[in-house]
Amino acid sequence: MRFDLVPKPSTVEDRPRDVRGYPVPAITPWDGEQPQFALTDYGRSADCAQQRLCSVCNVLMPRGPVWRVVGGAESAAIAEALAAGRPYRNMAPTMEGPGHRACMLYASMVCPYLARPNARRGLTAAQPNELTEHVVRGATRGALGAVVGFADYEFAVTPSQVLFRFLDVVEFLPHDTADAHLDELRAELARGGRGPAASAG
Ligand SMILES: [Zn+2]
Repeated sequence: MRFDLVPKPSTVEDRPRDVRGYPVPAITPWDGEQPQFALTDYGRSADCAQQRLCSVCNVLMPRGPVWRVVGGAESAAIAEALAAGRPYRNMAPTMEGPGHRACMLYASMVCPYLARPNARRGLTAAQPNELTEHVVRGATRGALGAVVGFADYEFAVTPSQVLFRFLDVVEFLPHDTADAHLDELRAELARGGRGPAASAG
């Protein structure tokens, strides 16, 4: 589906756009007028970590769980741990910061087209045709990745990088297709982005 048909959280709607109209995530550095989607800005990332700001929309994340999009390998490892009834522990730090549930659902569907730092997952500047290959190849659940909720995050701001570590999986939403989370995103936006727990009230 076209990226502009994916409904945007209001805080994403407020983000600056690149020339194609793609919203530019908070942690993306700019070179003049040109957002550098493949890179992560050190200062913006440090602000997100220290001020608990969403890495996509730059707005404060409430206390409680945070979300991120993981690639296929990590999705498979989480699925395996959950199936075995083991807690999932990934102690390898990542440069990718957390975000709101709605923002990460949105990012999971739009970011393959943004060519974000997916390079670190072995997708060098993912193009739409690479995405199609994944869908064709994607026989297993969550082959493309997952939107994952974690109870909390830790971070370290080193002189050269901002590193995040995520603790305790509280929600696991795998995807095999680019538009897998469309209904979930619509439902989340209808709830005002208060997360899955708020739906009961
Ligand atoms: Zn956000």
